[in-house]
Amino acid sequence: MTTALTVRGVVAHLGELEILRGVDLEVPFGEVHALMGPNGSGKSTLCHVLMGKGDYTAEGSALVDGTEIMGAPVDERAEAGLFETFQYPVEIPGVSLRELIREMAETSVDPGAFVARAEEAAAQLGMERFLDRPVNQDLSGGEKKRSEIFQLLARQPKAAILDEIDSGLDIDAVREVAEAVEAIRSPELGVVMITHYSRILKYMDVDRVHIMLGGKIVQSGGREVADHLEAQGYEQLREQFGITPIGGATPEPDPFASL
Ligand code: ADP
Ligand code: MG
Repeated sequence: MTTALTVRGVVAHLGELEILRGVDLEVPFGEVHALMGPNGSGKSTLCHVLMGKGDYTAEGSALVDGTEIMGAPVDERAEAGLFETFQYPVEIPGVSLRELIREMAETSVDPGAFVARAEEAAAQLGMERFLDRPVNQDLSGGEKKRSEIFQLLARQPKAAILDEIDSGLDIDAVREVAEAVEAIRSPELGVVMITHYSRILKYMDVDRVHIMLGGKIVQSGGREVADHLEAQGYEQLREQFGITPIGGATPEPDPFASL
């Protein structure tokens, strides 16, 4: 049995700077996992490294439904079934969402089926009225995130990483996005939902919660991990696991410690 996504020992550098310090993550098909962590802990870098973007030097293994994607070009990773939504969705002036969907359909295996799926997804997520508007232009934060989830549904990936899908949203939009994420749950898909705050978890059922600190996943478990985090905060975890911030100096050993 393959998993939607299996990440093993992923390390990433940007020049001299070590950002990811050995990330392990396993997301079975049908599950939605939350990946939480403070700003600067490496969450977006993990997305970029898995998608093959940016100038990172990366090592380790990442399997999408059993296919190794590390080292492969971006389009092959997408073809293997990996999809990423962006922390900051880009606006594409002059291109409507409908045109974007047609473009995506043309490069898919079965364009007819793709368009049919997109229409179904548009109805499911209430996206019809956005189809003839420029991609993400003049959309509210919540609408942009729903537009991303819509594109995801149309593409039918095997593994999806949603980067800060709930950031910058008011509470009603958070609930809407949570419902949209629940709506994409499927036995053919594994989802990693990156979030800074635990508030979105109140509106949905995640199967597992992982905490990333200083470029590593330091804790994984059920909902209680997020609840515990809410109570104690990231700083205490950092102390507990002895994690130094990325790019931060490692404290010198205290020469007088034994005195
Ligand atoms: P998160 O998404 O968890 O907030 P990031 O992955 O964006 O964290 O960043 C992790 C660390 O790597 C931060 O210290 C950030 O400054 C650094 N970093 C990431 N990308 C770059 C880049 N292109 N140039 C310089 N530093 C970067
Ligand atoms: Mg980020």
